[in-house]
Amino acid sequence: MHQEKTKPFSVLCPSIGKVKKITLNDLKSKWHMNKLSTKIIFILLPLAACLIGFGYAYYKAKEKLTIDHIFRSSQLSALLGANEISHYIEGRATEFNQLSGAISYCYNHRQSISELASDALSFTSGFSALIISDTNGKLIDFQLAKNRKHPLSFDEEKSRHIQVLAHDKIQRLNESFNDWLYKQAQHTNTTNNTVTKQSSTVWKSSRRNGSDTPLKRGDIEALPQQIIYLAPKEVSNQLGLTFNKETYFYSRPLIDCNQRLLGYYTAVLDRTLIEQQLTGIKQSLIKNGHKYVDVFVVRNDDLAPLSESNYINLKQLQLNGFNPTNNPLFRSDLGGIMINQPIGMEIYKHLVFFDDLDLQSDKRGVTLVVFISDKELEYSNAELLREVLLYLGVGLILFVGLTGYLARHIAAPILELRLKISSLARAGKVDTNFTERKDEIGELFDAFSDMASNIKRKETQLTRLALEDPLTGILNRRALVNSAIAAQNKSALSSVCMMDLDHFKQINDECGHAIGDNVLIAFCNIVSEHTRESDIFGRLGGEEFGLVLPGTQLDEAYAIAEKIREKVEQKLSDSLCSSHYLQATVSIGVIEWQDNDINQALAKADKLLYKAKQNGRNRVEL
Ligand code: GH3
Ligand code: MG
Ligand code: MG
Repeated sequence: MHQEKTKPFSVLCPSIGKVKKITLNDLKSKWHMNKLSTKIIFILLPLAACLIGFGYAYYKAKEKLTIDHIFRSSQLSALLGANEISHYIEGRATEFNQLSGAISYCYNHRQSISELASDALSFTSGFSALIISDTNGKLIDFQLAKNRKHPLSFDEEKSRHIQVLAHDKIQRLNESFNDWLYKQAQHTNTTNNTVTKQSSTVWKSSRRNGSDTPLKRGDIEALPQQIIYLAPKEVSNQLGLTFNKETYFYSRPLIDCNQRLLGYYTAVLDRTLIEQQLTGIKQSLIKNGHKYVDVFVVRNDDLAPLSESNYINLKQLQLNGFNPTNNPLFRSDLGGIMINQPIGMEIYKHLVFFDDLDLQSDKRGVTLVVFISDKELEYSNAELLREVLLYLGVGLILFVGLTGYLARHIAAPILELRLKISSLARAGKVDTNFTERKDEIGELFDAFSDMASNIKRKETQLTRLALEDPLTGILNRRALVNSAIAAQNKSALSSVCMMDLDHFKQINDECGHAIGDNVLIAFCNIVSEHTRESDIFGRLGGEEFGLVLPGTQLDEAYAIAEKIREKVEQKLSDSLCSSHYLQATVSIGVIEWQDNDINQALAKADKLLYKAKQNGRNRVEL
């Protein structure tokens, strides 16, 4: 096989830790790289390309699915969360009505306002404190829910200066009171009001004996309208409501039995419960597989966050504002996907009074923000990439394995067979030593081995036929000439004998051709017996034979020829038929042969043989 000459290059061999010089052919043979292997690789390459393409498509589809999933789950969480919180705030409005029923002590003078406030709080679960303020909005009494510990010691004197209600809130509450008064007046006019009016200052008299009828449940509707608003931070701070920060305040005018305004009472929404709800939403998102999530509440008017966030860029949020719709949006300024869902819109539908009456509806209240950081996408993309690379890696390893397998088990044996066939074709070398295999390729090897052995056998037969005389088994003329030339190269001096059976025609005629053949065979046996292995004996045609005696001088050759003649004279007649009266003899011409052509030498010897015939046959002529 034609070997390409390639330049060797250095490679670090990890197994021996040394740099080895190898050629491209070394690599090719190591990896069974031949044209067939290359073809196999080229056939399989589209498969590998498909595999990579499929991996890429899978990655893209899954990436889109992940984003869809983030969009859907965050939108759903925001919607449900905002609804829940809205309902919670709304629910507290009903609870505040119940609380109002308990605090309207007009008909119960046995308790002080503090005791009433404390009792009223115990009926509710959603408020953490109850504040009583005078008509100027300044604090008069402050009661914490029983499960709360007040972080500051409540100093009655100091606390009196706390302005619980801002001027605009007082204004709203007074509107609520006046509205109520108006309705009461209408009610008194139409029905005979049985409520006994009393002109007492409620909070100064801690205990009173009265004959008042307790307020009926239905009368709660007759209370002035409550107002709900997001309290300013300062008030919460002043009151020491650190656990509440800014929270919703529910306020209502406090009226005595003579329908006089005594002040206002304000319930503080327990915002820890809202926090719990926010945490709940966050937990459900985390359960959904989102890691980098913020769930928090933002005040609408100034976009100030009312609870904690970790990932969102708040400065950018305050600068650029909410999304225009409630749909999720990629916000590169905030570094993630944001959904804003307004809270408490329902409250404004149901309640007449609320603090920001003059503001646009979208500026009131608070908004729930669900934010999923870019990190989430990076994280899930990295996970996805790992997954896809794993699948691709396995696929490619299989591909390389398959290619290697085909190269090793299909291409390499074919190459092996090809080399042996070309060696048989070119050099006639039969190499049937194959790598052992038990499959169809093994059978192909066996078939080749059989074929090669057969060819060899036939070749040997043909060679023999070409060199041997078929009747006697000794060399034919061509083989004798070739062997003589080869022998002449080895030894400078040889002798050549020409031998011819005498009157052979007569033998044939009298004894038959078959006996003639036997005589020829018997003659050859006699000559073989009296010559050496190295002597070259051949049949030149008919009953004419040539004998080349390498390294033998003329006198020695004469002696050998004489010996043969004698033995033929003695023995060959045994092979004749009984009717034959002649003796079977041989005539021989002997010459010394040095450096001339063998054919010339044979011709010379033939002349001497002719001389022997002329001189009476059965003789040796030198
Ligand atoms: P001479 O003593 O002068 O050599 O006489 P001869 O009869 O031997 O010579 P001739 O050339 O007249 O005859 C040779 C005969 O040998 C003729 C031929 O039929 C016979 N012969 C040649 N080849 C064979 C063979 O293979 N078998 C047999 N049986 N006879 C053969
Ligand atoms: Mg003859
Ligand atoms: Mg003859």
